[in-house]
Amino acid sequence: MKNTLIAAVLSLCTASASAQLPAPLKTDITTRVNAMYPWLDTVYKDLHANPEIAFQEVRTAGKLAGEMRKLGFEVTEKVGKTGIVAVLKNGAGPTVLVRTEMDGLPMEEKTGLPYASRAKAVSNGAESFVTHSCGHDVHMAGWLGTARTLSEMKAKWKGTLVFIAQPAEEIVSGAKAMLDDGLFKRFPKPDYAFALHSWPLAHGTVGFNSGPVSSNSDAIEIVFKGRGGHGSAPDKSVDPITIAARFVVDVQTVVSREKDPKEFGVVTIGAIQGGTVGNIIPDNVQVRGTIRSYSPAVRAKLLDGVRRVANASAAMAGAPAPDVQLISGGAAIVNSEALVAKTEAVFKDAFGAANAQRMPAMTASEDFSLFVNEGVPSMFFFTGVYDPKAVAEAEREGGKPIAFNHSPFYAPVPEPSIKTAAQAMSLAVLNVLGR
Ligand SMILES: [Zn+2]
Ligand SMILES: [Zn+2]
Repeated sequence: MKNTLIAAVLSLCTASASAQLPAPLKTDITTRVNAMYPWLDTVYKDLHANPEIAFQEVRTAGKLAGEMRKLGFEVTEKVGKTGIVAVLKNGAGPTVLVRTEMDGLPMEEKTGLPYASRAKAVSNGAESFVTHSCGHDVHMAGWLGTARTLSEMKAKWKGTLVFIAQPAEEIVSGAKAMLDDGLFKRFPKPDYAFALHSWPLAHGTVGFNSGPVSSNSDAIEIVFKGRGGHGSAPDKSVDPITIAARFVVDVQTVVSREKDPKEFGVVTIGAIQGGTVGNIIPDNVQVRGTIRSYSPAVRAKLLDGVRRVANASAAMAGAPAPDVQLISGGAAIVNSEALVAKTEAVFKDAFGAANAQRMPAMTASEDFSLFVNEGVPSMFFFTGVYDPKAVAEAEREGGKPIAFNHSPFYAPVPEPSIKTAAQAMSLAVLNVLGR
């Protein structure tokens, strides 16, 4: 009886797994992506050589809008400052959102590639080089490739595509800007949402997971207040330097002694500013840091602990209460288990089980979570960008490391990286559309 039940359940699972995309549709996607690659290569290298920073993506948005109009999408520009929304309605069926980011980073590219960026922009009041060192140019090329593949295959599916190009992901502001500008009110609200991120994996591979895949991020901004005085007479002052020093050390016990050791959580103090010279006790010291976590419970525990240790450090010195600000920088992306399972089957089938694997969550944060938290079942996944041999070498003890995202040497291999991105995203989207 038990065995019969298990067999029945197993056959049900197999039935739903085999109800995935029919093989000819998969071949169709691959053929089309291969055929359109010269176009993607040109667009990619142009975007790579001309990056723009957060909320300045005017040229980039114009370029994407133009290409999407040629593909038959109805395009609205300036949604959330520089964002664009491209809609393609194709009969009754699910609405699927596909997101790319558009912004580069204010840093100098050092890859030496023939299409390397020499672009500059004003960032925080100072001129800086600009580079696509997070791979958002790969995402844009993959996004265009997916849009073209699905528009060419229009006869094979039913539903609505909502392709969004989001500004300012790097400063975790663009998703909010688009939502505040009516993204889910002025345009069809999606039944599913997808986004991908390039990652230093081997090209041709995809990585994913269900549950949290990026971290909650909260910023720490504390001002410890003392009473300034002469360095030779500490008894006539309250020293905020020793208070800050004690805080920086003691706050780590919140992580090591209070948090469940099985759960992810990080507190990093990245900046301390106070004082001018050695013989003056300053009036105050500023401390800045970041708190990362996956679960809401750990997040609450760390926020509470940081605040408590800051207050206690000041109280121990008889100092006034510090000014503690803990600023929310975004929630973790939590992938839909059902959507990931459905997509995993099609990825494994298309790329082979060895090239489509579950991977741990990243400790970085991403504002794609804001779309997910509007109640949209979503999947955020990763695609590889490096020669598999280089990745294997980097994994070898003492091997040559490969450049991670945000490195001035981050250099995706264009063709296989973009093809995999376009193919994977087309498969994922087509898999949930009506047919
Ligand atoms: Zn980034
Ligand atoms: Zn990024």
